[in-house]
Amino acid sequence: MATTKFLLVFLDGMGLGKADPNNPLSEPESMPFLTSYLGQSLLAGIHINQTNLLLKPIDATLGVAGLPQSATGQTAIYTGQNAPAFLGRHQSGFANGSLRKLIDEYGLFKRAIALNHAATLANAYSPEYFYAITHRKRRYSVCTLLNMAANLPFRMQYEYEQEEAIFWDITGEMSRGCRQPISPQAAGKRLAKLSGQFGVTLFESYLSDFAGHAQDKGQAVACLQRIDAFLESAIAHLPPNVTLIVTSDHGNIEDISTKRHTFNKVPLLAIGPKAKAFSNVSDLTGITPQILTLLN
Ligand SMILES: [Zn+2]
Repeated sequence: MATTKFLLVFLDGMGLGKADPNNPLSEPESMPFLTSYLGQSLLAGIHINQTNLLLKPIDATLGVAGLPQSATGQTAIYTGQNAPAFLGRHQSGFANGSLRKLIDEYGLFKRAIALNHAATLANAYSPEYFYAITHRKRRYSVCTLLNMAANLPFRMQYEYEQEEAIFWDITGEMSRGCRQPISPQAAGKRLAKLSGQFGVTLFESYLSDFAGHAQDKGQAVACLQRIDAFLESAIAHLPPNVTLIVTSDHGNIEDISTKRHTFNKVPLLAIGPKAKAFSNVSDLTGITPQILTLLN
């Protein structure tokens, strides 16, 4: 039997809200593939548990007061640790020194490698990103630290040209380092193909969080359509031993009446042979431990 593998797709700022004109996910044209695949729209209260398909809302607040934020949410997803409780608050944007300790000790990539599985970050990086960090114009994102904690290389232009990397906005149109954008379908196929070579493959997109902060419904619908076409292609090309997991760090795009994040639950979507094994996950901290259990 082929080894169990996981493809983790992280969508920043994608919560499950109620049907409402301010919720772009209520619009049937936003995610035509996913809506038809699931038989319903991605809204609050959704629950599907079938063979090879699980979708449930999971908690992103983790018992800590205040709106959930990206750095602590992502750290919770990729370490299985309650990062906001560890810090005493939700932290936005980038990871500071103390979150880095959690990532160094509990990071998913490092622990997958310790179990003799290969791991990779599928995102394409540009030299400009590292230049900005060296010159203190930017700080490390959580997934960058996750990759560094495992001593893994970053995928750059060369890998992009070899069809083995994807820019954060899926097509590359909005990524400064990308000279030749691709279709969402090509990106999904590329990611699915890559996932067959690694025990854990991670791809992060921040499109949904940007669209939520922008409070522009047209932009939000277009971004959801791009994600939908990307997921459709990834699912169509997914190797049979790979389980796809899609999740988020906090709500945002599902309520464009506010430019802030929301308290809404986020989706945990699992598609593939190990989907059912995630049915007991109830918040962001449950994903990494379950992946590691199944890899072991
Ligand atoms: Zn945000």
